[in-house]
Amino acid sequence: MGSLDAILSVQDLDTRADQLRHRRDRLPELELLRAAQAQRAEVTARMEAVAARLHELRAREKALEDEAALVEERAAAVDRKLYDGSVVAHRELEAFQADHRMLKQRQSQLEDEAIALMEEAEPVAGELAVLEEQAACHDAEIARLEAVLAEARAHIDAELAEVAAEREQAAAAVPPDVLAAYEPLRTRMGGVGAARLVGARCEGCHLEIPSAELEALRAAPADALVTCPECGRLLVR
Ligand SMILES: [Zn+2]
Repeated sequence: MGSLDAILSVQDLDTRADQLRHRRDRLPELELLRAAQAQRAEVTARMEAVAARLHELRAREKALEDEAALVEERAAAVDRKLYDGSVVAHRELEAFQADHRMLKQRQSQLEDEAIALMEEAEPVAGELAVLEEQAACHDAEIARLEAVLAEARAHIDAELAEVAAEREQAAAAVPPDVLAAYEPLRTRMGGVGAARLVGARCEGCHLEIPSAELEALRAAPADALVTCPECGRLLVR
């Protein structure tokens, strides 16, 4: 193998590494993961809205129940006063009885309102439970996809490490000036810095090299650094 042939081995390994990195960045599960995460975010937003609504209903219900309990206490106090013998005047007794009735009515009204709110909260709590189930489903799917991605990436990384080790070996066989010319060409030319000349065609740009230039290329010494007149890549004859 000539010194220029060795650069083609380096090129092959660089291309292989590019393909692996390309695959690593575009694993199909990545798209699925993004979709699952977007769906989860939607569910989270809905959950927050429904939970806030439920919290509000329950706070109002609790406030009504507290108020009902206070009114009940006041009614009980009035009731005690009616029967402890401290009130004897008929008109005063009547006033206390009226007060007691009014308080019991108010208590019952507050309790009815609290029950209405409890009933209103029921479907909201049901909706929240459904959303929590959906969130758990999305979380499980996200975890599954992340595990699949981690495994696929670990595989690719292991392959990349192998390719890098092979590349290091292959590059050691390439003369430094060839390697120095190859690296910037590869960066500039979409990953391919060296190509084989097959017949009159450069395998880098796939163009036929005009015969006069081809003659000059063929006349150059075997280890001379030649480039394609069409694309500028290193040519391996
Ligand atoms: Zn070319």
